[in-house]
Amino acid sequence: MSLLIRGARVIDPFAGSDEVRDLLVGGDRSNGREPEVFEAEGLIVAPGFIDLHCHLREPGFEYKGTVAGETAAALRGGFTTVCAMPNTNPPHDNRATVEFVLQQAEAAGNARVLPIGCVTKGRAGQELAEMAELAEAGCVAFSDDGSPLADPALMRHAMEYAAALRLPIIEHCDTPELSGKGVMHEGLVSSRLGLPGQPSQAEVASIARNIELAALTGCHLHVAHISTADGLELVRRAKERDLPVTCEVTPSHLFLTDETVLAPPYNTNAKVNPPLRTEADRKALIAGVNDGTIDVIATDHAPHAWTEKECEFDQAAFGISCAETAVGSLMTQVARGELDLRRVVEALTVGPASVIGLSREQLGDESWVLIDPAVEWTVDPSRFLSLGRNSPLDGTTLTGRVVATIQDGRLTRHDAVEVTA
Ligand SMILES: [Zn+2]
Repeated sequence: MSLLIRGARVIDPFAGSDEVRDLLVGGDRSNGREPEVFEAEGLIVAPGFIDLHCHLREPGFEYKGTVAGETAAALRGGFTTVCAMPNTNPPHDNRATVEFVLQQAEAAGNARVLPIGCVTKGRAGQELAEMAELAEAGCVAFSDDGSPLADPALMRHAMEYAAALRLPIIEHCDTPELSGKGVMHEGLVSSRLGLPGQPSQAEVASIARNIELAALTGCHLHVAHISTADGLELVRRAKERDLPVTCEVTPSHLFLTDETVLAPPYNTNAKVNPPLRTEADRKALIAGVNDGTIDVIATDHAPHAWTEKECEFDQAAFGISCAETAVGSLMTQVARGELDLRRVVEALTVGPASVIGLSREQLGDESWVLIDPAVEWTVDPSRFLSLGRNSPLDGTTLTGRVVATIQDGRLTRHDAVEVTA
């Protein structure tokens, strides 16, 4: 079955093109059959987005989310490929678990899943995982996300292995001894609310150390969910030194600040790690996307059960369910003139593809996302496909949304019931 997307603005960073044109998906016209036509005037079409950082929760935390459910949410959010972080139970530190996740994804047939393997056994930071075996099983990167690797000698060793395997280490850069029991950004808002904070320096110090270890080993360091202006400055300088260092930011850190914890006060849905920072940090991150210092926008989609958020702020789980709002909040920032549209599309396509070293062909030539940049809609988490309803954007009106995705030539319309405009 072939499909003709007619009259859209096709932004294809893999091909280096951006023009209003028709796009024929799925085969050619030589069989004599007319393709199905999708009138797409006014829409933006881009290669299917790649989420370099998400949490599918299976195996082990099926009450928060499953591979089938969260990949359906990802597809609705415009992501035709997602990289699954290894903090499951058991974690992705062995071949059998990685193969299980791949089988679940294959059976579900939603977004394609590329697993990320553990750096250390059990993500415990003591002993390296069988990294070569994980690479063989299909892992595209290594990370102990959520558990920063404290021991610098072990990190050096891990980087030497990863470099030999030509895969990146994606590090959640934090200094837990310094972040301590902090539940939000340490600053004016945390003082006002009387909540323990995490100082920016806990992230910055870790980024500095890991950049130097990348310099020592030649390993590709990818800094996960960067949140601080000072940390971003270190990445900028590492790139000037031609070090193999890249970084990502989440849509949440681009859209929200620590003030979100005030509205309503002690808003547990705004509790995330790293924490939402200040307006100055947010502005620096936006500039980092626009000038290319930030290579990737990744969701860090983290579904939780409602009981893990309907509790005191101190007790609540860290994380935001944002697979289905990411593109909407980014497009809203494009509409406001904050974010550059072409940079956003690059950071969701060629950016992540180059971090994991995959070409357009390897990712699926026939995967596309169709976006209406003008439609206004109000976020209603009760209508998420994700099991996680933990969204600080509940009730927020966004401009722009994903209307359809094409996965391996197959079109799925996401025409939403929640469109209000
Ligand atoms: Zn993380």
